[in-house]
Amino acid sequence: MTVATAFAGMRDVGIEAVTPVVFTAGCPECRGRFQLGAAAFMLAIGGSERTTFYSFTCPECEVAVRKPAGERIVELLVGGGVRVLRLTGA
Ligand SMILES: [Zn+2]
Repeated sequence: MTVATAFAGMRDVGIEAVTPVVFTAGCPECRGRFQLGAAAFMLAIGGSERTTFYSFTCPECEVAVRKPAGERIVELLVGGGVRVLRLTGA
């Protein structure tokens, strides 16, 4: 790891995974399965399970995929450095 990549990982959140984390995701539209880096995902945490979900854009068919995120998935994505959007007042 170079100094440049070390500093590139330091953003406003204080602590972040240094190595890129890759998740395997499936698209319900084209049924494709692919590997995406943490930056490709967005996690929204709402007040209930119904408003807690993760989303990504399918690299195959470019559809916006949104899937419910249970506790374990939230932990996994947050641990992998996925952007988190906290939905307040939902
Ligand atoms: Zn697709």
